[in-house]
Amino acid sequence: MAKLSPMMQQYFEIKEKYQDTILFFRLGDFYEMFYEDAITCSKELELTLTGKDCGQEERAPMCGVPFHAAEQYVDKLIEKGYKVAICEQIEDPAEAKGIVKRGVIRVVTAGTVTNSKLLDEKNNNYLCSVFCNDDVVGMAFVDVTTGDLFATQFGYDRGDILSELSRYSPSEIICNRAFIENGSLISFINERLGCFVEAEQDYFFEDEFVNQKLANQFEGYEGELPVNGYECARVAVGAMLEYLAKTQMCELPHIKDIQFYTSEQYMDIDFSSKRNLEITSTMRDNKRRGSLLWVLDETETSMGARMLKSWIDKPLLNVTSIQNRLNAVEELNKSTIIRSEIRENLSKIQDIERLISRVVTGGANCRDLQALKTSFEPLPEIIKNAQMLESTLNRSVCSQIDDMQDLCHLLERAIIENPPITVKEGGIIREGFDENVDLYRKAMTEGKQWLATIEQQEKEKTGIKNLKIGFNKVFGYYIEVSKSNVGLVPDTYIRKQTLTTGERYITGELKEIENNILGAEERICALEYSIFCEIRDAVSNANTRILQTAKALAQLDVLCSLAEVSVKNNYIMPVVNVSGKIDIKDGRHPVVERVLKGQQLFIPNDTFLSQADRVSVITGPNMAGKSTYMRQVALIVLMAQVGSFVPATSAEIGIVDKIFTRVGASDDLASGQSTFMVEMNEVANILNNATKNSLLILDEIGRGTSTYDGLSIAWAVVEYIADLKKLGAKTLFATHYHELTELEDKLEGVKNYCIAVKKRGDDIIFLRKIIRGGADQSYGIEVAKLAGVKNDVIKRAKEIVEKLSVINTNINKNVKIEVEDDVQLGFEQFGGQDIINKLQKMDVTTLTPIEALNILYELKTEADKI
Ligand code: ATP
Repeated sequence: MAKLSPMMQQYFEIKEKYQDTILFFRLGDFYEMFYEDAITCSKELELTLTGKDCGQEERAPMCGVPFHAAEQYVDKLIEKGYKVAICEQIEDPAEAKGIVKRGVIRVVTAGTVTNSKLLDEKNNNYLCSVFCNDDVVGMAFVDVTTGDLFATQFGYDRGDILSELSRYSPSEIICNRAFIENGSLISFINERLGCFVEAEQDYFFEDEFVNQKLANQFEGYEGELPVNGYECARVAVGAMLEYLAKTQMCELPHIKDIQFYTSEQYMDIDFSSKRNLEITSTMRDNKRRGSLLWVLDETETSMGARMLKSWIDKPLLNVTSIQNRLNAVEELNKSTIIRSEIRENLSKIQDIERLISRVVTGGANCRDLQALKTSFEPLPEIIKNAQMLESTLNRSVCSQIDDMQDLCHLLERAIIENPPITVKEGGIIREGFDENVDLYRKAMTEGKQWLATIEQQEKEKTGIKNLKIGFNKVFGYYIEVSKSNVGLVPDTYIRKQTLTTGERYITGELKEIENNILGAEERICALEYSIFCEIRDAVSNANTRILQTAKALAQLDVLCSLAEVSVKNNYIMPVVNVSGKIDIKDGRHPVVERVLKGQQLFIPNDTFLSQADRVSVITGPNMAGKSTYMRQVALIVLMAQVGSFVPATSAEIGIVDKIFTRVGASDDLASGQSTFMVEMNEVANILNNATKNSLLILDEIGRGTSTYDGLSIAWAVVEYIADLKKLGAKTLFATHYHELTELEDKLEGVKNYCIAVKKRGDDIIFLRKIIRGGADQSYGIEVAKLAGVKNDVIKRAKEIVEKLSVINTNINKNVKIEVEDDVQLGFEQFGGQDIINKLQKMDVTTLTPIEALNILYELKTEADKI
């Protein structure tokens, strides 16, 4: 077999180390992909597949993209779940002996992109690392673009893993092999979270290796745990650092510390509840608009927007911390002028966190430095205003904002007003900042003057009036003479190029001047670049205080935003305590209220839940507003624990440790589960994980199966929840099963509520008001009529319902559900219906005695099983 060309050999040597990536191999002004990578890229990026001579008989499949447009192609591949290794020429081709050296300078992956349109300024982009050891899971989350790093660990539990993941919505997960073994969990993560999971090599997770990694990254870390009891979380962090080293290939000094936390610090909202409550995005189209976050986000900076989202993803459990936030919001709510001054100044601030992360990783250009300067300018004004605030949290936030004026002045003096993107081609340093830059510049302008003088002299010497001096990249400065004057050109001119209109020449004198001018240009570019690097280093060295300031500004922005929203939407400060009560007067749904604004008034409703009144059974017709009401209670509790004011006239919120919701029916075809199975899974999860301090929102439990099964399940679930010895959680339970209203008299802690409607003839009017008592009927047919179902169908449905209610009354005579052991059910309720059916179908007159005996035997066996 023919030998591979040297370049292809180089390609294979590099590709060997980056098997799981698409290798973008730099060739001149293009990135080329070969073989499998080329075939993949031609399909995914719609590029033309060509071939390259590689020394062998068959040409290598190849496709390519221009290097200046590479980012968009890389982004597309990342979005589709690939990783891209960027391989550059790492020596100057002019100095290369033989083939130019090439090497991978970065591997771009979904969770580690730093400079891409894929990054959403209002969202963090997290990489997650999971280490699963026996029955403990350690998880770490890092945003490389901001330096945020969180880590936690807990006992292995599918629900807890998903809850934790949904707090951060990572775009990529790395893990050890043990974690990836749970196939159904991994496909759930792939499908539902839309993120890629990949197991890394074992050495990533080895103890000594991890210790070394942590010691290298974090100052003061000497193999001791920063916080006890985080063994697995620590390993997850170590593995993550290795992954970052392999992909970023540079130091990441802005990742300074690990924020370890436990499940006791934050409210737990499981994966489906978070979706159901539309906390950060809507259920239908996964959009921010229409979610709670959309209502609460009036932040002025992208750092603030990201922090607000992280607060909402992690509602607090500690009353003092919540109170601190609430007090800060209250102060800003009342201080209209200070708030508006601060917000006005915040609006001038760019994404300092992401800018500084580009600075420390060496990817920043002059425009980034300029953006930092502009962002530092309003800081003194912000500090001046913030210093007038007195609440504990506002004071602490203010104390962490550095005015950054030293750097601001440095950048102001050093960098010109509108610098170019490139940093190596000069034209970036302001006049007066560096003596040598000024000197070279002078030489260059004088050089231009010399050229003008030569042009004049040559015109006079030769008598060619339209002679002119020009420049091109191929042969530098030249003298251009039009065709009609070529005869006047002296012998000392050396012809370089013939044009249709004339000729171009060079002279010895012109070459000499060219050397001076071009030399000055080269020297000035190098000098300006080195000054730029010095300034960038100075900014980089200040990264600790810049990041601290950025975080404080983000907090101030969030607090101002919550205050702004509270004023705009007429929210009040909730009382947060550990009373175990939820007492809301005139509560409103923050999102529905906002959507309805201007069209129709939102009707407020009260809520009272406590240990004594822990379960509210809510009945009422469809469309009455049951779901809205129940969700509003959950959202008000969540908002209070985030530290936000709430839509009500008063609210006392006893801390809730977890919110669970079971709302609406949905198939989970991706994991092969039917609607009813999904429902029951969620119910099982709730009953297994809720505590007496949890808030449960249960809407229509048991609808996905036959009426009796459904009713029995719903009944048993309420019994279980209401029982203080078993669960005793505060619960809003909406149902169509009127039978459940009987529970108020039978179980302690259960109260009936219904949503009032008014009947006018055949029509109903929704009053949207929740009142004590059970609904008198379902009104399903009336709602169907409202929805425009044909009159014939409505009429027929009424006839049927009447017949059914007669049958129902008869059945109910036999079926009397009692609490606990004392249960009396009809024969068919025990599963005897099959036996009845068989007997009914049987024609006794045609049976032989032996057949009759066999059937009798079968029936007896079936009856024994009941
Ligand atoms: P279903 O059982 O069919 O799900 P439901 O009783 O849960 O119905 P919701 O979906 O909560 O009813 O409410 C139906 C609509 O009524 C909402 O989309 C909203 O526009 C309106 N609505 C609900 N509550 C209120 C309220 N308190 N004030 C004004 N409008 C409301």
